[in-house]
Amino acid sequence: MVTGRNGATLLIDGRWEGAETTFTTVDPSSLHKQTGEYAEATAAQVRSAFVAATRAQHAWAGLSTTSRAAVLNRLAELMEDRASELAGRLTADMGKTIKDTRAEVARSASVFRYFAAEAAQSAGEVFPASTTDTMLLTLDEPVGVVGVITPWNFPMAIPAFKLGPALAFGNTVVWKPAEAASGSAVLLAELFVEAGLPAGVLNLITGDGKRISSSFTSDPDLAALTFTGSNSVGVSLRQAVAERSVKIQVEMGGKNPAVVLADADLDDAAVQIARGSMLSTGQRCTATSRVYVETTVFDEFCARLVRAVDAFRVGDPYLNETDIGPLATVDQHRRVADYLALAKQEGATVLTGSLEVADPATADGCFVAPTVLTNVATDSRLLTEEIFGPVVVVTECADYAETLRLSNTSKYGLSAAIFTSRIDRATDFMRRSATGLVHINRETAGIEVNVPFGGVKESGNSSSELGKAAKTFYTNHKTVYLRSKQV
Ligand code: ADP
Repeated sequence: MVTGRNGATLLIDGRWEGAETTFTTVDPSSLHKQTGEYAEATAAQVRSAFVAATRAQHAWAGLSTTSRAAVLNRLAELMEDRASELAGRLTADMGKTIKDTRAEVARSASVFRYFAAEAAQSAGEVFPASTTDTMLLTLDEPVGVVGVITPWNFPMAIPAFKLGPALAFGNTVVWKPAEAASGSAVLLAELFVEAGLPAGVLNLITGDGKRISSSFTSDPDLAALTFTGSNSVGVSLRQAVAERSVKIQVEMGGKNPAVVLADADLDDAAVQIARGSMLSTGQRCTATSRVYVETTVFDEFCARLVRAVDAFRVGDPYLNETDIGPLATVDQHRRVADYLALAKQEGATVLTGSLEVADPATADGCFVAPTVLTNVATDSRLLTEEIFGPVVVVTECADYAETLRLSNTSKYGLSAAIFTSRIDRATDFMRRSATGLVHINRETAGIEVNVPFGGVKESGNSSSELGKAAKTFYTNHKTVYLRSKQV
């Protein structure tokens, strides 16, 4: 990784720069281990990044899609060659298990390959006109400079979801990764340079999101902004660009339900729901956090869910056999601990796990036991707010109608799952679930690159991430009326 004076972690116009102020990160599984020192970018450096991106855009868009694809494919190869180093870095940054970070690196490489191929599919469409001397064409043109703001929970995959299509379709980028994931971001940016990406096409800005926010959103060269993270920040970014013609895509929180009907395969449902709620230490926006179960199978299902959760190995994220590592940061640990304290205050029943958490400093790591709760009131904050930790609440319901009603009573609308062997219930739920994603007999988490991803309601404003839909965000149509005399 690039080291140097003042944490030279800003990539601006192809050169690595430091800053007067720096910040450091620690390994969440071992808080005494410092993992990096990064530059806190100034407003002037943010501006320079946008200037560089603007200057580079015309030439980058002017390359053939094959030439741009060659860089992305070379990047994917380098990611695969250096997979162990990258995975280790992701684990050091945010504590995800090495098993999961290896998979994340492999998947991210495949996302870059997908968009390298996707951009070569078509450059527009041809339509008939009302007169025979005219052809109507649409050209898909890059938007310009795209601002990319990413979270720490998928330090490589979420950047790939955004940088892949942004670059493949001919845009240039100013990227601000989450503070905790800065190490992973610097490594990825280094690989882009090694892959031959021209200077200025990707500019990396490390630093505190709040401090950088206004210079980022008010930059005159910002043409589109894509964000994944918390609701409060997503809403503030929408407000910040509301009066300018900046395209904005926000992917925010979730409070994803799983419905278990009496006719489901309960063993399978329990394993899927345990995975959906606990893997990645519950820090996936698509994680399962509410489970609605028909009364007749409630006890049987809960026993199976507890068994599946208890089978996970929690601990050192660097060991191959570990399933669940620590939470990503001390702040995250405090947040989840506060929700567990609320559960205690409200008298929730603990089916497995614990409402007591060790101080991360003395425990030397941000660990929380995977916890299954029941007897929680439907209006409790435990059932309405995103916890973003290994905590799931199970609720008993009279029948399918009640499971459906409760699953849809959330301000969020990202992902939902139903477990049933009845096709009529499965298809009814598929149509009536107020979410952007529906899983039938599958956990709520899990993303495939070739289909659109995104939520409705307060989970986000688009389903134009991934798949063919990504093009709608990363390109603009130019409509051409082409008239020529007939010969
Ligand atoms: P989380 O709670 O998952 O950390 P955040 O929404 O706080 O989610 O962070 C997601 C990304 O948004 C990070 O890159 C973070 O630095 C950035 N960020 C945080 N606050 C702001 C802000 N006010 N303006 C712009 N970006 C921000």
